[in-house]
Amino acid sequence: MPELPEIETVKRTLAPLISGAVITACRIERPQIIKHPAADEFSELIIGQRITGTGRRGKFLLIELQSGDTLIAHLRMTGRMLCTPREYPLLPHTHVIFSLDNERELRFADARRFGCLWLKRAGETDDFTGISRLGIEPFDERFGAEYLKSQLSRRRITIKQGILDQSVLAGLGNIYADEVLFAAGVAPTRKTDTISDEEWEKIAAAVPPILLSSIANNGTTFSDYLDGEGNKGNNMPFLQVYQRTGMPCNRCGTTIMKIKVGGRGTHFCPNCQK
Ligand SMILES: [Zn+2]
Repeated sequence: MPELPEIETVKRTLAPLISGAVITACRIERPQIIKHPAADEFSELIIGQRITGTGRRGKFLLIELQSGDTLIAHLRMTGRMLCTPREYPLLPHTHVIFSLDNERELRFADARRFGCLWLKRAGETDDFTGISRLGIEPFDERFGAEYLKSQLSRRRITIKQGILDQSVLAGLGNIYADEVLFAAGVAPTRKTDTISDEEWEKIAAAVPPILLSSIANNGTTFSDYLDGEGNKGNNMPFLQVYQRTGMPCNRCGTTIMKIKVGGRGTHFCPNCQK
């Protein structure tokens, strides 16, 4: 599932291809993908608009339009937002195609169809995407050990669930939560009310560098994720625990284990993480 580094990469790769282009047509093959407003209104509103830039909030991709409207996408499990030359063959499961006036198309494809698109009008209150309930960004200057502790230490949930809570910290998902807890040396099953100040420091300190190095590698691709140009991410070889079940820990040689924490497959080193 694409997380912050993957969406950030899609944002960055799309920007030079779509910024300044005008949307000349919008073909919707699967109206259920459009969550707001209704698909025909969505299409009517977006045609003729110039794209002014791209953005990201948590795991949401934002495409800014000249009117102040924003096209918002969530890729969920298998969604892809690609900009391709118009003559390229369509990927399977392409649900929405935006024709641009620069010989390209912006295409939304999604094999499992959990991904969604919204159009937020300028000045409209966003009570439909869930963005208004997101916590701060990991690169926000307010983010740090004090913030995590203040949000999580009085709740008795596992630290894995805590750092996955999008209303606390926006953008972290299953891959990078496991990587952060390995880097911090904290077991994913620990309850948030047992984490020491030193451990909060280690957890908070691990978040930005892990996300930044994945962004530098264009994100992590296991099966579906592609960047805005259709390329796979290169970060997989750098993962320390995620999807390394049964392999030796790079730090101590102990076998990496996989367990369920809060319903999520969770990878960790039973020796390095206490
Ligand atoms: Zn280890």
